[in-house]
Amino acid sequence: MSYVQGATGEWEVVIGLEVHAQVVSQAKLFSGAATVFGSEPNSQVSLVDAAFPGMLPVINRVCIEQAVRTGLGLKAQINLFSVFDRKNYFYADLPAGYQISQFTQPIVGHGEIILDLPDGSTRTVGITRLHLEQDAGKSLHDQHPSKTYVDLNRAGVALMEIVSEPDMRTAEEAAAYLRKLRAILRYLGSCDGNMEEGSMRADVNVSVRRPGGPLGTRTETKNVNSIRYVQQAIEFEVERQIEVLEGGGTIKQETRLWDTVKHVTRSMRSKEEAHDYRYFPDPDLLPLQLDQGWVDAIAATLPELPDDKKARFQEQYKLSLYDAGVLVADQASADYYEAVARGRDPKLAANWVIVELFGALNRLGKDIADSPVSADKLGGLIDLIVDNTISGRIAKDVFLAMLETGKSAADLVEERGLRQVTDTGAIDQAIDQVLAANPDKLAEYKAGKEKLFGFFIGQIMKMTQGKANPALVNELLTRKLQA
Ligand code: ADP
Ligand code: MG
Repeated sequence: MSYVQGATGEWEVVIGLEVHAQVVSQAKLFSGAATVFGSEPNSQVSLVDAAFPGMLPVINRVCIEQAVRTGLGLKAQINLFSVFDRKNYFYADLPAGYQISQFTQPIVGHGEIILDLPDGSTRTVGITRLHLEQDAGKSLHDQHPSKTYVDLNRAGVALMEIVSEPDMRTAEEAAAYLRKLRAILRYLGSCDGNMEEGSMRADVNVSVRRPGGPLGTRTETKNVNSIRYVQQAIEFEVERQIEVLEGGGTIKQETRLWDTVKHVTRSMRSKEEAHDYRYFPDPDLLPLQLDQGWVDAIAATLPELPDDKKARFQEQYKLSLYDAGVLVADQASADYYEAVARGRDPKLAANWVIVELFGALNRLGKDIADSPVSADKLGGLIDLIVDNTISGRIAKDVFLAMLETGKSAADLVEERGLRQVTDTGAIDQAIDQVLAANPDKLAEYKAGKEKLFGFFIGQIMKMTQGKANPALVNELLTRKLQA
C-alpha cells in the first residue's frame, strides 16, 4: 500500500471515478436528431431536444443495446428491469428543466475492471453501476461581448455514466483505470473514448484518511477531459486536503473544477443533495423491460476483450506480460500484430511492431490506423531478415525508407542494392584489405589486445557498406585471425 507522508503522519488516498461516456449511435437517446461532432451549432436539434411543449421522448434501441454491451464487457449484472427518472434543475442549456437519467434502478449493476499497472501487477476495481442519461446543451460565453449563446447539438445525446467504487489509491491507478475502461469501450464500439472531443470525461472524487480509518469527506472535480489532467487534479487535491486537515481544518464536500491553465482545482459549488434534484420516474417513459434472450444475443456478439486477448497472446505467441499488454492496448494494434505474426516468428514480429513501428508512429504523431507501413509490408521486411537477404541492421534502414516511400521492403532492397553479401570470397577479400590497411592494429591484436576484434568488424562492415552478413564476417575473421 502506498501512503502519502504528511507533516503529522501517513495518509491514505481514496479515489472513485464517475465517467461520462458518449454512446456511439447515429441518433440521440430519445430523439432522431444526429450526433456528429463539430457540426454547425444547433444543426442537430429536434423539437424533443429543444423541449417544445407536447414533445414526447422515444427510446433509441441502439443506445440500450450499447449500454447492455458495455455492461457485459465490464462483467456486470444486467438489470432486466430499469427505470428512467427526471433529474430536475434549471440551467440555460437545459431547456426542459430536467435531465432524463436513471437513479434508483439503473440498467447495469455491479461489475469490475482489472487495472494493468506500470510495474506489471494488476488490481481489480469495482464498478458500482452504469446508467443511461441525456447530455445537456452548451452555453457559449465567448461568441458575443455581452450575450451568451446556447448550442443544443449535444442536448439529448446518450451518455453512459459509469461509476466506480472508491477502490483506487493513487493517481497512477486512476490513470490505469481510465486507460483500461477506454480500451474496453473502444473494443466494444460503444464509445469512441475520444477525451479531447469530450466523448469521455471524468468526475474525480478524492478524499484522504488515516491508513485503514473511516472514509474521509470527498471533493468531486467535475468534467476532467484528459487522463493527465485527472492525475494532476488528484495530486493537487491530495496535497490540498492533507494541508487543510493537518492545519486543523475540515474538508467541505463540494464540487470543484480543474483549472487547465493554473493547474489547480477551484471550488465551484457546495455539494448538492439528491433530494435537491427531486428525482421521480419520468411519466413519459415506461420502465425498461429487457428479455434475457435479447441480452444473451448481444453477449454472443461481444469481441474478445483486452484481458482475454492479453492472456491468449502470452499463451499462443509466448510473449511477455509487458509485450502482450502493449499490443492489446487497442484493437487496431492487436490486429496489426496478429497479421504480422501470422506464419512468422512471433517474438521477432512483436519486437518489430513494438520497438520499430510504434517508435516510428510516435515520432510521426500517427495512429496505427494511418500507419504508412501496412502489416503485410512489415511482414515482408521480416521475411527478408529471416531468409538472410538483409541483415537486421540494414533492415532498420529499409524500414525507415518504407515509412517514407510506402514501398515494399523487397522493392527497396532491389532498387538500392542492399542485398546482403553472403559470398565468402567477397567477404574474405574485404577482410584481407582491412587487415592489410591496419598492420599496427593487427600486431596489437596478436599481442593480446583482443578487443580490436570489434574494430576490424566495424571496418569490414564499412567497406561492404553494411551489407556483409554479420555472422559470416564474424566467422571468417575469426578463422583468419587464428591462422
Ligand atoms: P454523486 O452522484 O453524489 O456524485 P455517487 O455515490 O453516485 O455520488 O458517486 C460517488 C463517487 O464518489 C463514486 O465513484 C464513489 O466511488 C466515490 N466516492 C464515494 N465516497 C468517496 C470517498 N469518501 N472518497 C473518494 N471517493 C468516494
Ligand atoms: Mg457525481
